[in-house]
Amino acid sequence: MRLEQELKKRFGFDSFRPGQEDVVRSVLDGKDTLAILPTGMGKSLCYQLPGDLMDGLVIIVSPLVSLMEDQAASIRRRGEKRVAAVNAFMPSDERRQLFAEIGTVKFLFISPEMMTRPDMTRFLSSQHVALLVVDEAHCISQWGFDFRPDYLRLGDFIRKAGNPVILALTATADGRVEKDILGYLEMSDANVFRQSLNRPNLYYAVQRAAGEQEKNRWITERLTTTSGPGILYVSSRKRVEELTALLQGHGIRIASYHAGKEAGDRQMIQQQFLSGELAWICATNAFGMGIHKDDIRQVIHDQMPASAAAYVQEAGRAGRDGKQSSAVLLYVPDDEQKVRFIVQHDLPDEAQTAHYLAMKKNGEAAASAAEFAGISETGARLIDYYGEHGGGTAVTEIFTGLRFDKEEKLRQMIGYAAGQTCLRSKLLHYFGEEPAREQIPCCSVCGDMAETWLESALPAPGERAFLPYEERIRLLLC
Ligand code: ADP
Ligand code: MG
Repeated sequence: MRLEQELKKRFGFDSFRPGQEDVVRSVLDGKDTLAILPTGMGKSLCYQLPGDLMDGLVIIVSPLVSLMEDQAASIRRRGEKRVAAVNAFMPSDERRQLFAEIGTVKFLFISPEMMTRPDMTRFLSSQHVALLVVDEAHCISQWGFDFRPDYLRLGDFIRKAGNPVILALTATADGRVEKDILGYLEMSDANVFRQSLNRPNLYYAVQRAAGEQEKNRWITERLTTTSGPGILYVSSRKRVEELTALLQGHGIRIASYHAGKEAGDRQMIQQQFLSGELAWICATNAFGMGIHKDDIRQVIHDQMPASAAAYVQEAGRAGRDGKQSSAVLLYVPDDEQKVRFIVQHDLPDEAQTAHYLAMKKNGEAAASAAEFAGISETGARLIDYYGEHGGGTAVTEIFTGLRFDKEEKLRQMIGYAAGQTCLRSKLLHYFGEEPAREQIPCCSVCGDMAETWLESALPAPGERAFLPYEERIRLLLC
């Protein structure tokens, strides 16, 4: 089949991006397929094009409502109206309506939580499912950085639906995550396509600081002298608010973003950032997935994330348009203790696990048992899942293993922050790639670059011009 013609006709693109054609052909050949392509490379096309050409329903499991809506809208824009999305917020009468009209749906977006509900599994597995797409498939792995327990149960659906073709998509998966994806989705004979994670237009830097004050000073200077659009990633809501206030006080067009804010506020801030009204977002890692802004010039981390995979994903939001951009990690050696604390307390401990299980045995519902035991909803789902699927190994033992692995992941991140070798090569190495070929500019270890590609900060529209920037720095530093 002349796939280029179909590509042109249906999407208006002249050629495939690297990796896309192999993936599309593999799916059309009826092979289960895992595609690991960097963010922004066009993973959506990898299911939309074959989906168009296949006979039957295409189900796309997607972790975020905003991602689903985004993609559903983009399919509609190209004239395909047979699109629907189901998530937990959908009123039940609308859901019933959708069930009644499922025959008219071609692309169905669904959250993993909805998908694995028994009534939904029963209903959807009775349809003719041509292709099951698992987007952001790293969420299936505890070793991934965005673990979602409900992804683990997709295997049940696949068996009940009579083994449709499966396409798993993700931007970052090291060997272990890859193994989990293939294992949990029961893709024993799959084609795996992997594109290099190297992003030649990203300059990586680690900026050491003696403490928080010095971090604040560096960030303030950076944001008052160089321009965005940029994201400042921060590890707690409290710090998000503090830093935002500090920077707003210096006249920077920045707003805060975290999961504790009203949905309406978050939406508005996103819009203002997309339209350029805001130059910066100061956010926890709740910000980013599903945000399509190609011209982000800087991503700055106030503190290291818990793994190199998370760092690659977050830093990778800079420079999707291919223009030179910067990814800076601020580092105080103390940071690792803070991150370690968060990572290690992520999973329920032995006492909490026992407490939770005892309460459930006494007939308590999962949600209130979790609350009494002082564990998160995710923690409770994990106990439930490994209780059923642990293969006889005690849940606490499994958690000990998981904690050990999280520590390993954190150690990689510390190696990145504190090390003395090429940052780019190190990131590639973590994902099993060869060291980067020489590249200029590369990173702050390979050469301390003045980041000349960053434009100087401009006053907000309608605002009066600031003092010259040398003057502003002088004022800041004194
Ligand atoms: P990903 O899921 O990999 O992050 P998306 O599927 O959201 O990426 O695609 C990112 C952008 O790339 C979209 O705007 C899409 O229209 C565009 N795109 C995808 N494939 C091509 C192509 N072959 N040629 C040009 N643009 C493309
Ligand atoms: Mg995507």
